[in-house]
Amino acid sequence: MSSTQSFIYKEPAPILDKENPFESMMQRFDIAAHLLNLEPGLYEYLKMPVRQVIVSIPIAMDNGEVKVFEGYRVIHNDILGPSKGGIRYAPDVSLDEMKALAAWMTWKCAIMSIPFGGAKGGVKCDPSKLSSLQLEKITRRYTSNLIDIFGPDRDVPAPDMNTNEQTMAWIMDTYSMHMRRTEPAVVTGKPLLLGGSLGRREATGRGCMIVTLTAMEKIGMKPKDTSVVVQGFGNVGSVSAQLLREQGCKIIGIGDISGAFYNKKGIDVDKALEWVKHNKTLAGFPGAEQIPQEELLELECDVLVPAAKEDQITQWNASKIKAKIICEGANGPTSSKADPILQEKGILVIPDILANAGGVTVSYFEWVQDRVGYFWSLDRVNSRMEQMMKAAFHSVYETAERYNVPLRIGAYILAIDKVARTLKIRGIYA
Ligand code: GLU
Repeated sequence: MSSTQSFIYKEPAPILDKENPFESMMQRFDIAAHLLNLEPGLYEYLKMPVRQVIVSIPIAMDNGEVKVFEGYRVIHNDILGPSKGGIRYAPDVSLDEMKALAAWMTWKCAIMSIPFGGAKGGVKCDPSKLSSLQLEKITRRYTSNLIDIFGPDRDVPAPDMNTNEQTMAWIMDTYSMHMRRTEPAVVTGKPLLLGGSLGRREATGRGCMIVTLTAMEKIGMKPKDTSVVVQGFGNVGSVSAQLLREQGCKIIGIGDISGAFYNKKGIDVDKALEWVKHNKTLAGFPGAEQIPQEELLELECDVLVPAAKEDQITQWNASKIKAKIICEGANGPTSSKADPILQEKGILVIPDILANAGGVTVSYFEWVQDRVGYFWSLDRVNSRMEQMMKAAFHSVYETAERYNVPLRIGAYILAIDKVARTLKIRGIYA
């Protein structure tokens, strides 16, 4: 971008253990904007979400008592198309977190060349303490409060932390009831029966596997000589582990909220999945030795996949990480203060906005299929996703080389440049 004025990269604020996610996103945004010489007006435009909605969700609990929950939907940008992004249910959901996650969705879609903008939503609640009926009521009331925001051509939600196919089915049904017609394309990540796509559930983990293998190839690592540690054993972590193992890698460490497990001879991921199916968590899993949680990320391994939650790799543990490649399955698992430490150590970090973009890519395929009313085979879904993930990896890699920056900053540069150029051609309506 041409500009007369550029941005000064500010040193991060004083040391904090848990980074504010919006600040964490902005630290990287600022570096990329500076390198791009982004015009000040465009900088301001892209920093600020286009819409931030907070809704109150009153629910009659099972005993008749009324409880009020707070819900959010932040649309960061819709310049490239309808905004897209998940909905999460968690006690620590906040507007700042939504703002960061919505912006990450904008960058993610831009990197993948998907015609979507970025959004994120959530409800502040503890789903583990709520019955299915209460979750259904929360979801339906949240949806009806946001009925003018959502829509196949406006804003399209998807699952995220603690939401799933059932949640999407309730959103789709509530929206359809209000519209007086069945509208599958209003959400993605739906059950197959309701117009979901084959391969959507595994898509994020599959995407992680594809970019990890592509990165390994770049630096001459062979799957059969590669040991992998995966943090998080939900949808993303377990599928990444399973698929990397299928490719010949040895999974030596896995972990979830219940504990971390290590087996240097290799963990049978299918057995671990079977265990979780019956016991809910990995607690007591007999196929590996339990180790302290904090040791999992620091294990001697070739590839580390943090696929649990935000701020796991921080300035406190980054120097102890021994992996050669980090594939960020979660959104924001590395704090901005850890970035320079990992860079110094020469670790190749595949940033979240590229590494976990397989999910939104197959969401895009689902939306396309719903709108056309013609459904694809699993082969078609998987091979198109693989093509797009590899193409995105190479574009990010080339951008990073051109600017002589880590892949994360390369990814931001690519994304911001694309959205900024689109914005310039469209012009400012006033
Ligand atoms: N929640 C997922 C993400 O963070 C998927 C979003 C989507 O498919 O719209 O990428």
